[in-house]
Formats: sequence, structure tokens, C-alpha cells
Amino acid sequence: MNAKSTAPDPHAPIEHTQLLIDGKWVDAADGKKFDVYNPSTGEVFCQVAEAGPDDVDRAVEAARAAFNGPWSQMSPLERSKKIWRLAELIEENAAEIARIETLDQGKPYGISLHSDVPSAANLFYYMSGWATKIEGETIPVSAGNGFHVYTRREALGVVACIVPWNFPLVIAAWKVAPALAAGNTVILKPAESTPLTALMLGKLALEAGIPAGVLNVLPGFGARTGQALTEHPGIDKVSFTGSTATGGRIMDAAKGNMKRVTLELGGKSANIIFADADIKKAIKGSSDGIFFNAGQACAAGSRLYVHEDVYDEFMAGLTEMANNIKVGDGFDPTSEIGPLASQQHFDRVSGYLRDGVDQGGRALTGGGRVGDKGYFVAPTIFTDVKPQDKVVKEEIFGPVVVAIKFRDEQEVIDMANDSPYGLAGGVWTSDVARAHRVAAAFKSGTVWVNCYGVFDPAMPFGGYKMSGWGREMGHEVLHAYTELKTVCVNTYS
Ligand code: NAD
Repeated sequence: MNAKSTAPDPHAPIEHTQLLIDGKWVDAADGKKFDVYNPSTGEVFCQVAEAGPDDVDRAVEAARAAFNGPWSQMSPLERSKKIWRLAELIEENAAEIARIETLDQGKPYGISLHSDVPSAANLFYYMSGWATKIEGETIPVSAGNGFHVYTRREALGVVACIVPWNFPLVIAAWKVAPALAAGNTVILKPAESTPLTALMLGKLALEAGIPAGVLNVLPGFGARTGQALTEHPGIDKVSFTGSTATGGRIMDAAKGNMKRVTLELGGKSANIIFADADIKKAIKGSSDGIFFNAGQACAAGSRLYVHEDVYDEFMAGLTEMANNIKVGDGFDPTSEIGPLASQQHFDRVSGYLRDGVDQGGRALTGGGRVGDKGYFVAPTIFTDVKPQDKVVKEEIFGPVVVAIKFRDEQEVIDMANDSPYGLAGGVWTSDVARAHRVAAAFKSGTVWVNCYGVFDPAMPFGGYKMSGWGREMGHEVLHAYTELKTVCVNTYS
């Protein structure tokens, strides 16, 4: 974890707190606003306009007009250049973006600056290249000699991107960049606890020359703004990242006009340490794999399976590493992990810490809050847990890992796959054959071998089972933002 970096003034004013609709900064139609909290202090630091159903109508109208008008008329190369320019502007404004991300979300400023901001910029760089490479195929058919058949990949239209609060800017980029590259227009709804970097993205898109109405930003709550977007008949697709429960509600709400839906949901990913692994590297990788971002990562390696021959050595090393992680305010340059993102989430994670102990688990380290203000939780390792315990089965989404001993390969594969989720997994071993065998056996969308949590714009990411539908990133994602049309031409006459 490289969290250290000189911090800026957290109290500098916030530039944009209104809605962005059709290229203009506007108040909500009903004038509503909501409080935004600094999770390091628990204090309100600004208010942001809250979009209601009327604002959703306005944004859909603007996005549709931009889709039918300037965005569709623009050549793919021009679209590509504008998306590339947006990536450059993200880099040019890195310090300010990182400041507001840390203020809003809590993560260390150095992480915001050196991880989140470049990751988001790189998504736009990568996806800009695809704008000129969205192609169909010609298809030889046997229906008759005179038919010329080809496919076209066409933009869907208006896409709602609903994003969570753990990586607010990065996950917005995962969705907005391919949606725009494929020629769609977007309404972006950030999470209610972290609205600021989405607004900044909207501002930079305008500066990059992306026409008004192509990227609209509507902060607000899930049950109101999110629900209105998901139900809206003028929206063609919803791309959502968040909890599996909310994913289910989105599926229900989207069915009115059979919206296309991409869901990137929860996880309870298994991370397996075999006895022949490089134990030092496995300890460091597994620690980062669960404690990075205070465990608020859908792919976090939250179930550790450690071979009995190396269990004691591994757990001693992991405990030492967890004890040495500096938990603190994101603007303190020595902090390595920050607070949880909200009071509500802090209460939820604290509940799991109690459940862990009540059900017989033992915390080797951590187990409670850090300090008496803000939403800080100590890195926690539970042992002596049983397969049916809540902390083993359910997604905690905090700096909490459960550790379980195993004896043989088939046993650990069965335990790893014994979950309703299937987002990611990790394998640590020096045996190449075993690495591939276990990677193939994992019922999950990503498997990391001798590493954990590596992401890249070119690597598809998404879940098996209740971890979701569809994939983000890579060229695979373009299928999620285009419709395939087959054209059959009779060339006889
Ligand atoms: P959530 O899924 O409710 O919220 C994510 C986003 O969905 C937010 O923008 C929210 O406003 C919106 N939303 C909520 N209800 C909606 C609805 N009915 N229609 C449309 N949009 C809606 O997540 P949460 O309640 O903030 O967190 C609860 C748990 O979800 C976490 O503890 C964690 O387990 C999980 N989670 C997972 C991810 C992930 O990356 N997979 C991200 C965030 C949270």
C-alpha cells in the first residue's frame, strides 16, 4: 500500500454541488439538497442537489436529444479524440480530484492520487481507442446463393450508470468510458455518500468538448433517484455496481421496457495459500487483497484458506502485517487505510464484528473501531470460524478476513466454491500445473495467481452466480453497450 503523499487543504471550497443536465449546472426542480459527510470526522462538509423524478425526466430528454443529435453525428475518430482529451483532463486535474475523493470517501489522499485517479484516466485512454474499432462481420449463409449478410454493432441509446461509494470515480469510469466510446449518451448517478468526483467528471467532459447532454450527472438516493432512472421508459440500459440485494431491485424495475442490464454485485472471494507458495509474497498480497480500501472492495479476498503445513507461519506474518497498518484520516500522509465510507456502513460492519465473536470466532487482531470519531475500523482477522458462520458466508465489505485451514486441493476447491457469490479468487502456489488446475476449477469471474487485486482496463471483470451479469472492461464490455443487428440483403434482383 503506497498511501503516502503530501496532502492538500481539505477545507478548500467545493466547485460543483448542483446537478449537471444538458451541459448546465442546475438545482433540483424541487430545490432539494442532501448533506455530504466526511467519514474521517463524521461531520457534514457540503450539501449537494438531490435529483428527483422531474430531474430524471429532464436528463433523459437531454441525453436522448444528444444521442439523436451531435453525438451520433460525430465521427468515431472525433468521439475517440474527445474521450482521450477527457483522460488527459483527469490527469491534469489529479490533485483536485484526489482531494475531493478523499474528503468524500475517506481513502488516503496518496491512494486517491496515485491509484484511483490514474486508474480512471487509463480507462478513458483505453476505451477511446475502441470508438474507432466497433465493427460487424460478414456472414456466409446457406439460405441461398444471393444473400449478402452482415452485422452491425449499434449504440443502445441512453444509458444510466449507477455507481457505489467504494471507488466512486474508478467505477464511474468503468461504465462511462465504454458507454461513450460505443456512442451512447449517459446519465451518471453517484452514490449518495460520494457524489463529488462524478460531478467533476461531468465538468471535465464538457471541457473536453463532449457535447452538452452526452454526460449528465444526477446525485441522489437509490430509492428515489436510482429507482426513477431504473424505471424510466426513456432509458435503454442500466449498468449498476453495488449490493446483490439492490441488483435484484434493479432487475425488477428495469423490466418495464426490458432495459439491458449489467450488474456487478457483491463477493466473498476465496484466497488460497498452498504450502508450496512463496509465503512472504502471499502474506503481503493477501493483506493488500483484503485490507486495501479498508476492505471496501467487491473483489476483496475475504475468505482465506491456508494449508495446514504453513498455517501458523502465514497467520503470524499476516497478523503482524495487519497490526502495522496505519489506520487514519485520509489527509494524514502517514495513513495507509482510511475510515469506512459512511455511518450506516460503519454500523453494518460493526454488527458483523459482534456476530463473529458471538458465533465463536476469535479475532487474532482488530475486532473493533479505531478512535472515537469518524468511521474507522481496525484490520481484523477471524479464526476458529465455521462454514455456516455469518462472517464466513456474507459479504462484510470492511477490513475483516476469515482464515480457515485446509488439507488437500479438492477439499479447498469445494470450500472456495461453496458460496452464492463468484466474483474473484486467488491462488498462491509455485506449482504451475496446480495453479492452472485451481484457476479452472474456481467458479468465479477472475482468478489471480500469485497476485491479488490486479486490475487493468484491458482485463474483463465481472461475476459468476450472484456476483452479477455481464463483464466490465476489456473489449468484452463493448458488447454490453451495443446492440447487434443482422442485415440480410437479397442480391438476386
Ligand atoms: P447499494 O447497492 O444500495 O448502493 C449502490 C448504488 O445503488 C448507490 O448509488 C445507490 O444510491 C444505488 N441504489 C440503491 N438502491 C437503489 C435502487 N432501488 N434503485 C437504483 N439504485 C439504487 O449499496 P449500499 O447499501 O450503499 O451498500 C450495502 C452493501 O452493498 C455493502 O455493504 C456491500 O456489501 C455492497 N456493496 C458492493 C459494492 C460492489 O462494488 N460490488 C459496492 C458498494 C456496496
